[in-house]
Amino acid sequence: MHFLRPAISSLLLVLFLSVSAQAQSAFTVGTATAAPGQKSTGYLEVPAGIDPASSIPVVVINGARPGKTLALVSGAHGTEYTSIIAIEKLIAAIDPAQLTGIVILVPLVNIQSFELKVPHVNPVDNKSMNRFYPGKADGTQTERASFLITKQIIDRCDYLIDYHGGDLDESLRPYAYWGPTGREEQDRLSKQMVLAFGLDHIIIWRERPTDPAATRYLDNTASVRGKASIVVEAGHAGIVDSDDLALLVNGSLSTMRAMKMLPGDPHPIENPVWIEKLEDVLSEGPGIWYPLVKRGTYVSAGMKLGTITDYFGKTIAEPRAPVTGIILHINAVPSLKKGDNIADIGVPAVHAP
Ligand SMILES: [Zn+2]
Repeated sequence: MHFLRPAISSLLLVLFLSVSAQAQSAFTVGTATAAPGQKSTGYLEVPAGIDPASSIPVVVINGARPGKTLALVSGAHGTEYTSIIAIEKLIAAIDPAQLTGIVILVPLVNIQSFELKVPHVNPVDNKSMNRFYPGKADGTQTERASFLITKQIIDRCDYLIDYHGGDLDESLRPYAYWGPTGREEQDRLSKQMVLAFGLDHIIIWRERPTDPAATRYLDNTASVRGKASIVVEAGHAGIVDSDDLALLVNGSLSTMRAMKMLPGDPHPIENPVWIEKLEDVLSEGPGIWYPLVKRGTYVSAGMKLGTITDYFGKTIAEPRAPVTGIILHINAVPSLKKGDNIADIGVPAVHAP
């Protein structure tokens, strides 16, 4: 029987080698494959269906040491430029030699929106690219792209950050969303992420779809699948401002430090303004918008937010704040059509969560 022992130990050696090879193996997303210590670029190839194919750029940064996988996704709205440029900066800034774990970066989901300068939707199918998750393999381009992102990125990450900002027609002050799920450990992690990111206004987003087949939003799709995730927003109205950009870049690196993916200490926000309710102010008809308040203004319930005139200059509406709170975003351009979002007002929470 003694000759069985070498056989067992060589079997154990093979097992050991395959486990350590697994921990140190290459990681592939779409056509991007990165070995440990490497950075690789490629595309998520969305196949043609009832409308054209699309190639979504993706970067895999595989750390020198094995660890968790973080996904950073931007540009679902292709004219929210600051969030897109922030990911471009992070592609250059994250050094795989310093990294523990894997970072998947998607700088621009909605390429057609970016190239054609069309806000809010994918001009190919006129759908928002942050409303159709988890997507459909046989749907329109937005749904096929969402399906691929769910399978290739969300299902394979541990943490996710979705980046947005004020679109071409939105004057927005920076803020984050935190969506608690009731699962204690996941909520603790996502709260740690949102605090480490450092944005000073955080919306508590409680009422969200829980059906995994109809999760709607990117971060919610990750969240429902058990991955700690947050949304961050900075930038406004087509302007890439260096302060807004710094908030997103430094916030991302700070979150990665909090998750022990990068060396160094995070710089968490200590006492953010927690927002417990969001009130939309919608336009009742088409017209020309003349705002009276700016993003970040604290308004009282009943305060006039601006004036809407018809095309002859006659005042047709004077929208007022439905609640007391902070103008998180306000329409940045004169154009208004019926149903457009004129402003979002955040109501501060009485108690921090
Ligand atoms: Zn957006």
